[in-house]
Amino acid sequence: MLVIMRDHASQAEIDHVVSLLHEAGAEAHLSHGEVKTIIGVIGEREVMYALDLEGLEGVEHVVRVLKPYKLVSRDFQAHDTVITVGTATVGGGAFAVIAGPCSIESEEQMMATARAVKAAGATMLRGGAYKPRTSPYAFQGMGLQGLKLLRAAGDDVGLPVVTEVLDVRDAETVAEWADVLQVGARNMQNFMMLDELGTLRRPILLKRGLSATIEEVLSAAEYVLKGGNRDVMLCERGIRTFETYTRNTLDLAAVAALKTLTHLPIIVDPSHATGRRELIAPMCRAAVATGADGVMVEVHIDPEHARCDGPQSLRPDEFEALVDDITPLVTLEGRTFGRA
Ligand code: PEP
Ligand code: MN
Repeated sequence: MLVIMRDHASQAEIDHVVSLLHEAGAEAHLSHGEVKTIIGVIGEREVMYALDLEGLEGVEHVVRVLKPYKLVSRDFQAHDTVITVGTATVGGGAFAVIAGPCSIESEEQMMATARAVKAAGATMLRGGAYKPRTSPYAFQGMGLQGLKLLRAAGDDVGLPVVTEVLDVRDAETVAEWADVLQVGARNMQNFMMLDELGTLRRPILLKRGLSATIEEVLSAAEYVLKGGNRDVMLCERGIRTFETYTRNTLDLAAVAALKTLTHLPIIVDPSHATGRRELIAPMCRAAVATGADGVMVEVHIDPEHARCDGPQSLRPDEFEALVDDITPLVTLEGRTFGRA
């Protein structure tokens, strides 16, 4: 249920509604627009309707929400969520370029990559320390040692760092070393983990599951917001279809749809979506044109010897050309790169 307050409702009127909701055992999540405050209510439906909130001072009307998500929806918050993380901003016109290797492999690799992507214009540095691999015999990542290398590389060049948290037991450790916590496609519906991430004060990059519907993505994000963490970016990284030429199928219609349904920033990952280096630039251009708030691209200093996802990784010079390529499009879309 959403309680829409009248334009310029007073603080006392808002507080009164919130205290009634709390007394009735409900959660009240506030969204402050320029003139309107909207209160997202989470509680038992029957109890909420019995409160007759529509009769209260300052209340314009009450809307029943039939969708399985509320806090992530544009109905609850009309304006774009803007997330600031260190020197980077994403959402509300700020465009993010997240770049780095699939997996952290060595200090030399991370330092060289960080310097190259920073010089080319990346706004955040990525790298996986805990890797979700299809085969248990494939390289699983460097773990804590990798987190430390990522942190050091990010600090060296002044970029915030993004890395995946694969298991809820690692969440606190990852939050200690990284600025943005990525939830991988395979974990999108790990509800216990989403609950835990809702309690952390770190932005979350939530990737779409391999076969997740748009409604399922939004419902997964709702878990994090419900826990109190409003800084969530969604990531379209391709879905599984009958096509095998590309690794997955990049669902750009979902990006456009999500922009209408939610206020959260939407990032496109063409690397995992296509699995093919030559398709990264065209899909980045398409992502910008579709209204995405950023792209995440895998970059490796020596893709032929990458321990993971070499064929879809750009070399630093290719990444530099890509950023140059999308720069006029980002401007054309009325965006600016979100870097300090
Ligand atoms: C990744 O970004 O490194 C990754 C494993 O992606 P996904 O979860 O989308 O497969
Ligand atoms: Mn990868």
